[in-house]
Amino acid sequence: MLDQKPNATLATTDLTLTSDILAPLPDELRRHLYFTLGHDNSKAEPHYFYQALAIAVRDRVTKHWRTTRQRFAATEARRVHYFSLEFLLGRSLNNAIQNLGLDEDSRRALHEYGLKLEEIEDAEPDAGLGNGGLGRLAACFLDSCANLELPVVGYGIRYEFGMFHQTIRDGRQVEGPDHWLRDGNPWEIERPEDTRTIKFYGHTQRGLDANGKPFSKWVGAQDLLAVPYDMPIPGYKNETVNTLRLWKAEATDVFNLEEFNSGNYPDAVVQKNTAEQISMVLYPNDASENGKELRLKQQYFLVSASLQDVLAKWVDQHGEDFTRFGELNCFQLNDTHPASAVPELMRLLMDEHGLDWESAWKITSGCMAYTNHTLLPEALERWSVGLFSRLLPRLLEIIFEINERFLAEVAKSHPGDMELRRRVSLVEEGDHPHIRMAYLSIVGSFSVNGVAALHTELLKSGLFADFYAMWPKKFNNKTNGVTQRRWLSHCNPELRNLLYETIGTEWESDLEQMKKLVPLADDAAFQKKWATVKQHNKKRLADYVFENTGVQFNTAAMFDVQVKRIHEYKRQLLNVLHVVHLYDRIRRGDTVGMAPRCVLIGGKAAPGYHVAKLIVKLINNVADVVNNDPKNKDMLKLVFFPNYRVSSMEIICPGTELSEQISTAGKEASGTGNMKFMMNGALTIGTLDGANIEIREQAGDENFFLFGLDASGVVEAKKTYDPDAIIAGDEDIRRVMELLESGHFNEAEPGIFDLLTKGLRNPQDQWLTIADLRSYIDAQAEAAKVYADQKKWNRMSIINSATSGWFSSDRTINQYADEIWKAKPLRDKKA
Ligand SMILES: *Cc1c(COP(=O)(O)O)cnc(C)c1O
Repeated sequence: MLDQKPNATLATTDLTLTSDILAPLPDELRRHLYFTLGHDNSKAEPHYFYQALAIAVRDRVTKHWRTTRQRFAATEARRVHYFSLEFLLGRSLNNAIQNLGLDEDSRRALHEYGLKLEEIEDAEPDAGLGNGGLGRLAACFLDSCANLELPVVGYGIRYEFGMFHQTIRDGRQVEGPDHWLRDGNPWEIERPEDTRTIKFYGHTQRGLDANGKPFSKWVGAQDLLAVPYDMPIPGYKNETVNTLRLWKAEATDVFNLEEFNSGNYPDAVVQKNTAEQISMVLYPNDASENGKELRLKQQYFLVSASLQDVLAKWVDQHGEDFTRFGELNCFQLNDTHPASAVPELMRLLMDEHGLDWESAWKITSGCMAYTNHTLLPEALERWSVGLFSRLLPRLLEIIFEINERFLAEVAKSHPGDMELRRRVSLVEEGDHPHIRMAYLSIVGSFSVNGVAALHTELLKSGLFADFYAMWPKKFNNKTNGVTQRRWLSHCNPELRNLLYETIGTEWESDLEQMKKLVPLADDAAFQKKWATVKQHNKKRLADYVFENTGVQFNTAAMFDVQVKRIHEYKRQLLNVLHVVHLYDRIRRGDTVGMAPRCVLIGGKAAPGYHVAKLIVKLINNVADVVNNDPKNKDMLKLVFFPNYRVSSMEIICPGTELSEQISTAGKEASGTGNMKFMMNGALTIGTLDGANIEIREQAGDENFFLFGLDASGVVEAKKTYDPDAIIAGDEDIRRVMELLESGHFNEAEPGIFDLLTKGLRNPQDQWLTIADLRSYIDAQAEAAKVYADQKKWNRMSIINSATSGWFSSDRTINQYADEIWKAKPLRDKKA
C-alpha cells in the first residue's frame, strides 16, 4: 500500500487554474470566513479572521509554490537538504504578506470589519519548534535560500508540542505545554502520498547472497510511519516558494491490523500512541544532551524519513543508477543531532539499493556537510553503544565498520601512534562505551564548519585539532547571519520607512546597502529622525513590558537588554551583579554620572537545569527589591520578561539601546541575537566572543563597549583564579557580594541563593564571572557617559546599523552555496 506509485494520468494532468480563480483578497477573506470556517463575521473573534486571512494568503503562496516545484523538477542542479531537529520559525502570516507584497490588500480587507492587521497577526501562535539560536538560524537560512532562489529543502520534525511556555510564579519559572497546533495550522499541507516507513529495534542477520557476496540485513524490526507535512517558505517578492518538510510519526496500519485480528484492541491503540510519541515534544535542552532513548529515536526518525524521501525521488527520476547522486545532492547537518544520516545513507545505499561499501562510502562522504555549534564539552553528543545496538542495530554495525576502516587509515598514516587512534576513535572506550557523534560527522563529511571566525579557529586548535591536522581542507568558517526581512523590515516598520525614504529599498535583499547611511551619521536632521524612530520603538516596548509584567519603564531611560536562553556561560549573573552594583550606588547616594536605566532580562531555562532556574529566581527577586525601593526614584528598573520567543524579540530588539552580549570568551559559538540588535541600532556591550568580534570589526572599536578577558586570557586566568581575593580587593564588588550574601534579596527565603554566591567565589568557577566584573562595571559606566551625550550615542547607533550588512543570512547562505554546496540559484539573476 505504501509503495503505491503516483497515478500516471493524474500526475500529468494539467491543473493550472489556481492563478485565475483567486478573487481579490477581501472577497477571499469573506469566502473563507463564511465557507471554509463557517463563521458569521458579526461575532467572529480575531482568531477566525487570522485563520481566514492566513488561508487566503496561503492560496496565493500556493501558486508560486507549485511553479517553484516545477522549476526544481526541470533543472538538473545540485539540491541541498538542510537537516535540523529544530526550526524556530515564529509566525508566518506577516512573513507571507510581506514577501508577496500583500500588505495594503490585507489591510483593506480587514478594514471592512474595523480590524487592524496587527491585531489579527497577534492571534497566530509562534511555531516554536526550536530552543534558541540553532533553531532560529535554520529558520533564517530557509528565508535566505528562498530569497536567493536556491534549491534547498528543509527537513525537520513536526512536534505536536513546541518549546514550553514559561510563566513566572513567586519569581520561579513554571513550564506549561505549548500546544501550538490546537486550532489547526493553515501553513501546512499534509502529503500522505510521500509517507515513509521507519524501523526500530530488531537485530541484524548476516549471510551470503546468490553471488556469494556477504551481506547483512536488519530483521525483526518494529515499523512506524513518517507522514510529511509541508510548509511553504516564500522568497522575497521573487515568486519563489521553497519547502520545509516536517515529519509526523504515526503507527503503521499493518501493525494495528494484526493486533485487531488477535482481538487485542487496547494494545493496538497503545501501539499507536507509542509510535506517535516520537514527534510529540521538542526536547527543551539548549547546549546540553541528556541521552534519552526517545531523543535518539527522534533523530533517527528525521534522518531515515528524509533520506528515504530524497532517494525515492532520485529513483523516480534516475532509476537505480546512483553514479551522479553525490554530485547532485548535498546534505547539511545542523549540528550532530542528525549525524546518523551518515550510517543511514550507507545502509540505504547498500541494503536497499545494492551498492558495495566503497561506492556507498564515496557517495556518502562526498555529500554530507556538518556544522558545529558549540565549544562546550557537555554539549557534545555521545550515545551509549548499548542503546544504539538495541534501537538501531544495523546502524551500529555500520558505524563500527566506518570506525575500523578509518582507524586503519590512521594507523597507516601515523604508524605506532596508538594514542592518536584512541583519541580520534568514533567509539569512546570504557565500561560504558559511547559513540562520539561529532567525530562520526567529521569522518563522514566533506565539509566541517564553525559559525563565527573565532569559533572555527578554536575548533581547529582545540576540540577537533587531531582531525584538522589530518584534513585541513575540510574545515571552514561560515559566520552566522539573520534575515533582515524579519529582523529589520518586518519588526521595525518605522525604521524601514525611514530607510526607504533615505536609501531606497535595495537593502531588503542586499544589506550591504546600509553602508549608505554612514555619511549621515553626523547629519543633525537625520539623527533627529533616527532618534524619533527609536523613541517610538521604546514606547512600544515599554507598553509590551507593562502588559506582560506590570512594571512601568521610563522611556527617557536607557533600555538595556539581555534576552537569550538562561545559561551559566551566557552570564546573566554578571548582568545581575551590575544591577546590584547600581542599586548599591543609589542606596548610598552616589548617582553622579549614572544614566537612568531600564534593564530587561528574558529567556527560558532548561527544565532540568537547576542553576539556570535559580538565576531566574534571583533576577526576579532583585527586580522586586530594586523596583520597590523608595530610595530609587526612576533611576533603575529591572524586569524579567516571561516566555521570551521569536514574536517577543520582534518587539524587544527595535526598542533596545544597549545589547548585552557578555558570555565568557571562548564559550559562545557565534550568537545571533547580537546581530538582530545591531541591525536595529543598539550598541553592544560585549566580550571578545563569537560573532561579537566581527561586530566590533565591522562597526569599529570606537562604536562598541568592550570589556573582559579574551579567549586566551580566560585559559590563562583559570590557572590562578582567586575570586575571593578580587572581591576583597575591590570595594564596589565587595559591597555587591555583601548585599547578595546578607539575604537582602531573599529575606523570606534565607539561603536560597547560596549555590550562586558560592559558585561565584569558587576558584573552579568555569565562567570567571568575578574576573570580568570590574571591567564590566567600567564599560557600563562608559556606556552611561556616552548616553548622556545623545549626539554621540545616535552617531554610534547609526554606524552600527549601517555596518550590519555582513550579518545578513543572505551573505552567510551565499557562502554556503558557493563554498560548500556548489549550488546555483534556479534562476540566475546575473544571467
Ligand atoms: C535570536 C534568538 C535567539 C538566539 O539568541 P542568542 O543571543 O544568540 O543566544 C534565541 N531565541 C530567540 C527567540 C531568538 O529570536
